[in-house]
Amino acid sequence: MTDVARMPAAFIGHGSPMNALGVNRFTAAWRDLGTKLPRPRAVLSISAHWFIENTAVTAMPRPRVIHDFYGFPRELFEYDYPAPGAPGVAQEIVDVLKPACVELDRDSWGLDHGTWSVLAHVFPDARVPVLQLSLNGAAPLDDHLDLGRRLAPLRERGIFIVGSGNVVHNLRRMNPALGDTAYAWGERFDADVKTIMTTDPGRLPSIASHRDFALSVPTPEHLLPLAYLAGLCDVAGEPARVFVEGGSMGSITMTGYLLGEIGRPDARVDASGHWPSGPSK
Ligand code: ZN
Repeated sequence: MTDVARMPAAFIGHGSPMNALGVNRFTAAWRDLGTKLPRPRAVLSISAHWFIENTAVTAMPRPRVIHDFYGFPRELFEYDYPAPGAPGVAQEIVDVLKPACVELDRDSWGLDHGTWSVLAHVFPDARVPVLQLSLNGAAPLDDHLDLGRRLAPLRERGIFIVGSGNVVHNLRRMNPALGDTAYAWGERFDADVKTIMTTDPGRLPSIASHRDFALSVPTPEHLLPLAYLAGLCDVAGEPARVFVEGGSMGSITMTGYLLGEIGRPDARVDASGHWPSGPSK
């Protein structure tokens, strides 16, 4: 390959926090993805669960594991994902996102379950450094797509960018008896998002006028991480592809998307420890 090596990027539908401990067809797909990805320098996770009033990136050397939920079994509260942070990479992220103003978060956040419930499967050894980028709740969908576009150079520096949310996410309509299925409105919405993501992801903001938008996206935070992948696709001039899909409890969809080439897990850092086409440090 003479092309500049580009790290793939993804969106993962995370569903229940219990998926961290679970073995099911979704977690199996996340695990399979992890075995096929080049080993990254770092993971940048954009999780639905860090939804605040500005854009920030975690910059602590040892991010804490946040158990941001209630009513789950004790073993989930005891779950640890001791991945290191990467303050130097945090500064790179601030730099590529300019002129957007991004705060370095040294002590408030860490790794929330949107991040660790999926990385528990993608990188179970918890050795790859992990950072999170917050979602600015005041910004419209287009702005998130634009931030995603600006992250594109990080793919050439060995950073695995992953959005973690759900395309359809309506907890008020959730019915555990429905198992791995979705309501007809959720299936319709998910299918139309799929059409956009697999043809022209730059059009993702048009989904806001979909007839099933209000039911499928009653609050924006679980859909917004997908906008970052859409922005990355837009820069690459490539659509995303679906690597796993299905409903969950009626009102959630677990669709996962991928951009870029996988299946070359040996395409890692070179002998000197550098990503082949990354920065010199
Ligand atoms: Zn969630």
